[in-house]
Amino acid sequence: MSSNKYDVTVIGSGPGGYVAAIRCAQLGMKTAIIERYATLGGTCLNVGCIPSKALLDSSEHYHNAQHTFSEHGIKISNLEVDLPQMIKRKRDVVTQTTSGIDFLMKKNKIDVFQGHGSFIDKNTIKVAKDDGSEEQISTEKVIIATGSKPASLPGIEIDKKKVISSTEALELTTLPGHMIVIGGGVIGVEMASVFGRLGSQITILEYADKLIPGMDDALGKELNKVLKKDLPNYSAHFNHKVTGSKIDGEKVIVTAENNKGEEVTFTADVCLMAVGRRPYTDNLGLENIGIETERGRIPVNDHLETSVPDVYAIGDVIKGAMLAHKASEEGVFVAEHMAGQHPHINYRAIPGVVYTWPEVAGVGYTEEELKADGVPYKVGNFPFKASGRARASMDNRFGFVKIISHKETDELLGMHIIGPRAADMIMEGVIGLEFRASAEDIAIFSHPHPTFSESVKEAAMGATANRIIHL
Ligand code: FAD
Ligand code: NAD
Repeated sequence: MSSNKYDVTVIGSGPGGYVAAIRCAQLGMKTAIIERYATLGGTCLNVGCIPSKALLDSSEHYHNAQHTFSEHGIKISNLEVDLPQMIKRKRDVVTQTTSGIDFLMKKNKIDVFQGHGSFIDKNTIKVAKDDGSEEQISTEKVIIATGSKPASLPGIEIDKKKVISSTEALELTTLPGHMIVIGGGVIGVEMASVFGRLGSQITILEYADKLIPGMDDALGKELNKVLKKDLPNYSAHFNHKVTGSKIDGEKVIVTAENNKGEEVTFTADVCLMAVGRRPYTDNLGLENIGIETERGRIPVNDHLETSVPDVYAIGDVIKGAMLAHKASEEGVFVAEHMAGQHPHINYRAIPGVVYTWPEVAGVGYTEEELKADGVPYKVGNFPFKASGRARASMDNRFGFVKIISHKETDELLGMHIIGPRAADMIMEGVIGLEFRASAEDIAIFSHPHPTFSESVKEAAMGATANRIIHL
């Protein structure tokens, strides 16, 4: 057993952990990072953001080649899907991205320990390696960034064959004939898009009365319209609470309770469990330092410090949205706080994005939240069907920009987009919220023509004073 002494030890190398480690190193702290898996990058780089976007892009190319190229005057014959090649490309993208993190660790002189980290006491971390050996790290401070794992429902076991999580879905090399997706949240609609575009029949079972229920109501409703139109064999059953599943030969049978209280069953080749993720603190030794989780999450104060001084926690393992960029912001925040700086995170200005076609993005307050809080507001809405740029690219069938501002002050309160490149355009809303802009500020900025972003300007003009030009 060797002895290692560090200023900071980060447990977990996802977008929270590796970013925190880099910022600590930049600020002059001797930093170690522990990762139980063979590759760095956590859920996001290995089995989350990056591989899912690789498959979303590949399947979108296929969909366009099948459905929109001919309208553009491009003829293709003998079009077919080579799923093993699609998965191979995805794996290559993941390998390149995770090896980029190896490079960044070396560049910043961060020591990487491969193995499972756990607390012996608040200043001593044990690293249990795959070969059975152990190592100990002495550390002044610790950042817990152990992330999350797929959640399941009571009575349903993710057997990784018939009942799978997103991790297995991203590795499927045979296209399922029929996939049931439990949960019409972010993972549900992204994976439904991938496999629906490639030809699988998709049945979404969702507890709420719409898709992506955490976002502004109008977005999920519009997204369902698009998926119905664009995916050949798609259906979504809302107000359905899934209660169980059983395997019957090659099939999986899923049971749900509908809003009339009736039990209904659905049969498919595979069932994707997408009902959320649970914070991961298994065998972390939290009991050895007296930290108790609350609903699975590690409680932290405003400085993201746990109940134990000098032990911090960030990312999916604490409260808040389970998003890579949220985890990274918290990583930087903790490093700078440790260095005596005064960082700040505006959680209201953290955007959420869904990478379907069209993309869906939102930041700030939803209309439903404002209604519930009794805040007076105005709404500007501009559809992409009125956008010249969207017409040119054939992206004008669906979607809109919705901007909400305060009824009296016109301060921007929320921006919600479903449409082409929404993921990038939402940044205008983020900047507006950070700088406490009014809708009018956005309306008077010059937006280049022809761009999708002109729709943001038009919606802002609508919110400001009902003075949309192109509608
Ligand atoms: P994680 O990324 O989960 O990393 C935690 C790491 O800690 C893991 O590598 C784990 O092995 C390691 N670890 C855990 N315990 C220990 C231990 N005791 N010792 C050593 N190592 C340990 N978010 C977005 O913002 N955009 C997206 O497009 C997006 N797409 C997603 C798609 C899918 C399919 C999934 C599943 C998630 C997606 N997310 C997306 C969510 C995003 O992946 C997470 O919010 C993000 O990865 C959280 O980062 P983290 O650093 O907190 O934890
Ligand atoms: P989610 O919370 O987005 O969606 C889960 C859905 O399951 C909800 O709509 C919920 O109503 C439904 N549900 C729960 N219990 C149910 C039941 N018994 N029957 C039917 N429906 C039920 O979670 P997710 O889609 O699993 O994603 C997990 C996390 O990963 C999310 O926090 C998300 O932010 C993150 N993620 C982000 C992205 C992205 O940013 N693009 C992509 C994928 C995942």
